[in-house]
Amino acid sequence: MSLLAERGVRWTVQRYAVLEYLCEHRDHPTAEDIYRGLKERLPAISRATVYNTLELLKEHGLVKELVIEKERARYDFDTSEHVHLKCRVCGRVYDLGVPPPSVSAEAEGHRVEELVCYAVGVCRGCREEEGA
Ligand code: ZN
Ligand code: MN
Repeated sequence: MSLLAERGVRWTVQRYAVLEYLCEHRDHPTAEDIYRGLKERLPAISRATVYNTLELLKEHGLVKELVIEKERARYDFDTSEHVHLKCRVCGRVYDLGVPPPSVSAEAEGHRVEELVCYAVGVCRGCREEEGA
């Protein structure tokens, strides 16, 4: 919280609500999910506010943006390095408890700055349904 204040960014009820929503919903919601989830409690909140707040929180390293689907970003309260699995059946995105792959900081004369990767498969729940 203090991180934003230190940089002169004001905490508003709506900004705080977006961060809180992400803290409470660890299933990697999209901006639209967050908007719908907050609308009832905060009727004045707009999609633009949610989008702008996510940008702000991301810039300040308080949330992580996951670009797994081209059309829509998902957001993660957990900013640590971890691997995700996208279920191709239900479309949900899960945390995978495996160490992230690594690559050296320099490879073939290129400088590597970030390794973006995720797994695709069928989640546990969907597998159980397949078996049923
Ligand atoms: Zn699934
Ligand atoms: Mn995650």
